[in-house]
Amino acid sequence: MTEPHPNGWRDHDRADIEKRDPAERADDFDEIWQETWDAETLREQGKRCMDCGVPTCMSGCPIGNVVPEWNDLVYRDDWKRALDRLHETNNFPEFTGYTCPAPCESACVLAYNDDPVTIKSIERAIVDVGWAEGWITPEPPAERTEYHVGVVGSGPAGLAAAQQLARVGHRVTVYERDDAVGGLMRYGIPDFKFRKSRIDRRTDQLRAEGVTFQTNTEVGSDVAADTLVADHDAVCLAVGAQRQRDIDLPGRDLDGVHFAMEYLRQTNREQAGDDAERIPVEGRDVVVLGGGDTGADCVATAHRHGASQVVQIGIRERPPEERPPNNPWPEQPKTYHETYAQEEDGSEAFGVDTQAFVDTDGDGHVDCLDAERVEWSYDEDGARAEKTVVDPSLEISADVVFVAIGFTGPTNNPFEDLGVERAADGTFQTDERKMTAVEGVFAAGDATRGQSLVVWAIGEGRDAARHVDAYLTGETDLPPSLATDNPPLL
Ligand SMILES: Cc1cc2nc3c(=O)[nH]c(=O)nc-3n(C[C@H](O)[C@H](O)[C@H](O)COP(=O)(O)OP(=O)(O)OC[C@H]3O[C@@H](n4cnc5c(N)ncnc54)[C@H](O)[C@@H]3O)c2cc1C
Ligand code: SF4
Repeated sequence: MTEPHPNGWRDHDRADIEKRDPAERADDFDEIWQETWDAETLREQGKRCMDCGVPTCMSGCPIGNVVPEWNDLVYRDDWKRALDRLHETNNFPEFTGYTCPAPCESACVLAYNDDPVTIKSIERAIVDVGWAEGWITPEPPAERTEYHVGVVGSGPAGLAAAQQLARVGHRVTVYERDDAVGGLMRYGIPDFKFRKSRIDRRTDQLRAEGVTFQTNTEVGSDVAADTLVADHDAVCLAVGAQRQRDIDLPGRDLDGVHFAMEYLRQTNREQAGDDAERIPVEGRDVVVLGGGDTGADCVATAHRHGASQVVQIGIRERPPEERPPNNPWPEQPKTYHETYAQEEDGSEAFGVDTQAFVDTDGDGHVDCLDAERVEWSYDEDGARAEKTVVDPSLEISADVVFVAIGFTGPTNNPFEDLGVERAADGTFQTDERKMTAVEGVFAAGDATRGQSLVVWAIGEGRDAARHVDAYLTGETDLPPSLATDNPPLL
């Protein structure tokens, strides 16, 4: 049990593990985060936690991390128990400790009128210590069952499902169409946000726990879907939601207009030592269409490649600095926050509605964007309703354009012929057990949620594993992940 220390937040201001200086970090592909941190400071930060009767941080966390307990354990300098508690709800705390936007922090009670507990930094610190101390080791099962499970896709959802299933003794094979494991953490998220050796270390752990990885293997072509089903007692589809939303505007097919993921993927491969071609941006004016995180990753990547200017444009107006009345705590605040990419001197423009990609000199290459400056009214769900044009004739210089306006579900449905159906938003339909319309075929992660977050993918993978285990054996001791859909089993 934790003991409340109600005055910790009065005694200590919030202190995050800082990012590196923007001027320095924008010149390299090393992680933007400070490599080292001070244990005493982190203990003080743990003490800021009030151990609330209703820990709203936990309901803000998609996997229900038991935040107050490990805050307290860190404060008490008991890092090993903190790590054990963290691993009870999260297979890969460093995946989230480094990449998560931390919805738990905006839900923290202290966020109501003060700075929230620095939950993400504490999570990262715990798992940093765990690796440094050699506490994170393989946990193979005492014995194996006779069941074989095929996991399709090796992103965080597939990896979490595979680890949970292997640890209860099932024989798990992960099929991955890419040449390396990790999904979007490998070929989407840039190295400077998340170092890939962190995935390799976990992959080694899973291998030692008995998981087999078959990379360069696309289910649906290299392995037929019916063969996969026939060869396994259950299958978990964790194929992600990487189909990119396109923009149907004049000039879309001009040279220089690309999907964001093409560029991010090439860059990740380049950083991994692959000398394949990459879209050149050096000395060029780059425009990123889309105000979200994928767009921000393009901005930061283009800076590192020496673009002469990078502008990120969003179709909505700039979010407010303060929470609007219809967005109260503990909801995720829909307020403006400067992204790490903007800290590095990017520029951003809001309320810009692109009308066309324009080739002014007729050489087949984009030269600028024609756009309108706009304002919107919004419906009660916050969706854009009516547009008012404030300035009809914006022209934005662009040698390269990256389209980063979202995703529309999985790129492929290898099980379509067997009966796996897509919902209206393109994702795979599942029942409350995360099973698709095909008996024994489950689905998890972005493939069912749509493009989301690493933490949701881990939670979904854990949940799918729990349902697969119950399906195979008639019972399960695997834990629910608390915040994802978890109807009682059986
Ligand atoms: C640019 C970018 C940056 C992001 N940054 C963050 C961030 O900072 N923080 C955060 O929390 N989230 C971030 N996300 C979102 C996060 O990466 C995803 O939500 C998460 O990776 C989803 O995990 P997943 O396992 O469901 O799918 P994915 O990670 O997409 O993995 C799916 C895997 O399935 C494989 N696959 C697909 N079809 C087949 C097939 N037929 N056969 C075999 N293999 C197949 C794919 O190759 C892929 O490896 C980012 C996303 C993008 C695009
Ligand atoms: S809501 Fe904040 S202060 Fe309360 S228990 Fe959670 S982290 Fe601690």
